[in-house]
Amino acid sequence: MSISNTDPIQRPVVVLAEDEPATRALIARQVSAAGFDVRAYENGRLALDGLRDLETALIIADWHMPEMDGVALCRAVRELREAHALRSCFFLLLTAESEVESIVEGLEAGADDYLTKPYHRQELLARLRAGQRINELQQLLWGRQVELERVNAQLGHMAKRMEKLANTDALTGLSNRRHFFERADEQWSLARRHDHPFSCVMFDIDHFKRVNDTYGHAAGDHVLREVAALIRAEVPKSDVFGRIGGEEFCVMMFAAQADGAAQTAERLRSMVESAHLAFEGREIPVTLSLGVAERSERHDSVEALIADADQLLYRAKESGRNQVWVSSGGGTRFAPGAAVAS
Ligand SMILES: [Mg+2]
Repeated sequence: MSISNTDPIQRPVVVLAEDEPATRALIARQVSAAGFDVRAYENGRLALDGLRDLETALIIADWHMPEMDGVALCRAVRELREAHALRSCFFLLLTAESEVESIVEGLEAGADDYLTKPYHRQELLARLRAGQRINELQQLLWGRQVELERVNAQLGHMAKRMEKLANTDALTGLSNRRHFFERADEQWSLARRHDHPFSCVMFDIDHFKRVNDTYGHAAGDHVLREVAALIRAEVPKSDVFGRIGGEEFCVMMFAAQADGAAQTAERLRSMVESAHLAFEGREIPVTLSLGVAERSERHDSVEALIADADQLLYRAKESGRNQVWVSSGGGTRFAPGAAVAS
């Protein structure tokens, strides 16, 4: 962390506003001789302009000046500080007035300290050095604050990444089993509360073991990724879609009844069948078996609904694969175009 103006090579900047030329020259000479970088101005307005490029400064301002007096400058500087244009500064008001009321007014305008004219050189320099110590502490705090904000932002970013990693199936980018059940449960509660229809489509890749054995595991992974991507593009983003086992997937279709969900399932089946998936130049025939169940009074949980869909998926497998089975009492093979009684 570098702190400007406290660098041994860089001298602390003193902005001096004093309208009387002789006094201005005297203060500038004394302060400069004590190791400060003095920038002298003949009124508050010019001093304020001079402050705009600085991050930190020590300010010595005369009270009575044309254009903008010391108290007005002090108020303007306080605004710069509040707007964080000035990270740190120390404001020393020079005044010929020693009445308590005037001193109170100056301090209330935001001055950090005051000195009455005629002043003692040693006292002026001692107050400036005290001001410089305060500025250095303010700069240090500011630097730590910035560092803290950076670290916080980084932690927030990491937490989001960790959460995403924890919820995602690394191979397909879909929700993993745990996250799928979490989201499915949320949708289940929502559908039940508002009495919306809600359907579940379970599917898996037919003879997936054979894909792995014939074409290798890299080809098997490729098929899983491709099938996931094909289906992801077809189902609404709001539908919960997850990989819940090796080659087993599940889509929760919010607001879908059994017939609508079965039609979608049939579309997915047909799409995958004709997709011509290939790996390293070899075409791999891929088909899906699917089971579709709609939420009914028989289901007391999302797991019960999924178990029903899984049972129908099993029937699709048993009956020759590459087909959709849908709940209708005992279950029936879905024939496109035909109505389904659930
Ligand atoms: Mg004056």
